[in-house]
Amino acid sequence: MKYRGDEVSRPAIDARCFATLRPVAETTWTQTDLAQTPKKGVPEGLWMKCPSCEETLFKKAVESNLWVCPKCQHHMRVSARQRVEQLLDPGTFEEIDAHLVAIDPLNFVDSKPYPARIADTRKKTGERDALLSGFGFVKGRRVVVAVMDFTFLGGSMGSVVGEKITRAIEAGIDHNVPVVTVACSGGARMHESGFSLMQMAKTSAALARLDEAKGLYISVLADPTTGGVTASFAMLGDVIFAEPKALIGFAGPRVIKQTIRQELPEGFQSSEFLLESGFLDRIVHRKDLRSEIARVIDYAGR
Ligand SMILES: [Zn+2]
Repeated sequence: MKYRGDEVSRPAIDARCFATLRPVAETTWTQTDLAQTPKKGVPEGLWMKCPSCEETLFKKAVESNLWVCPKCQHHMRVSARQRVEQLLDPGTFEEIDAHLVAIDPLNFVDSKPYPARIADTRKKTGERDALLSGFGFVKGRRVVVAVMDFTFLGGSMGSVVGEKITRAIEAGIDHNVPVVTVACSGGARMHESGFSLMQMAKTSAALARLDEAKGLYISVLADPTTGGVTASFAMLGDVIFAEPKALIGFAGPRVIKQTIRQELPEGFQSSEFLLESGFLDRIVHRKDLRSEIARVIDYAGR
C-alpha cells in the first residue's frame, strides 16, 4: 500500500493525524487501514468523553461550543485563560499584576514543601497562581476581570489570589469601569492558612469601597464555587450569575449532614437550588454570558 509522501512510515502517519496524508486513489481508509490494521483507537487527544452524559465527543466541536457538551449541555471546567478568551472581545485582554507570586510565610510542608508544590503547579499550568486579572472589553464595554483557575491548586485563594482580586477591584474604582469576577474554587488555600483567610476580609473591604464609589460588580459563579470564596467576594456581587448545575456552597454536604444531623434536600448546593433560595440572580448558559454581562452594564448605565 502506498501513501502520498510514501517515505513516511505508518506509525509516523498515525502520529501526524489523518488530515495531512491521505492514501492513494485505489484505496480508502475505510477499506484498508481501519479494517486491516490492529485497532489502535483514535489519535490521542482528538476525542473525549463528556463527564456527565459519557457521550464520546469530538474535542474540537466541544471547544468551539465553549467547552459545553453539545448533547447534554454539561458545562465543563475551563482554565482562566480559556475563560478570558470566551468572555472578552478577541485581542482586548491586557493582563495586570501578572508578576505577583506566592511566598511561604508558614514554611508549610504536606507531602512536599509548599514552594516545591507551587513550582510544580506553575510548570504544569504555565500560570503563576490561581487567578488571572486585567482589563478588556465585553461586547465593546470596558471592564476589569478577575478569573479564577481551578487547574492551579484547585483554584484555592491564597494571598496572591486575594491581592489580585483586591487590585482588580481597585482598578475598577480608579478607572471607573465595571468589575467582573468568575469564581471557580475549592476555597481558601490551606498552605497559607490564616493568610488565606485574611483575603476574605480584604476582598470584601475592597468591594465595600467599590460600592461607595458607586461602581458596578458582576460576580459569575462557575463549578465549583466553595469555601472562603463563596463566603466572601463571590457572593457580594451587585448581580450574581451562575453557570447551570454548578456546585456552590461553603462546606461540603457530608460535613453539613454530620453537623446538623439531618437529610439534605435534593439538588442541595446546585445553582438551580440556590436560585430558588434567592442567592442568585440568574443562571446563565455559557454561550449567553457575554450578552448578559453587557446587558447588566447597560442597565446600570456604566
Ligand atoms: Zn454530555
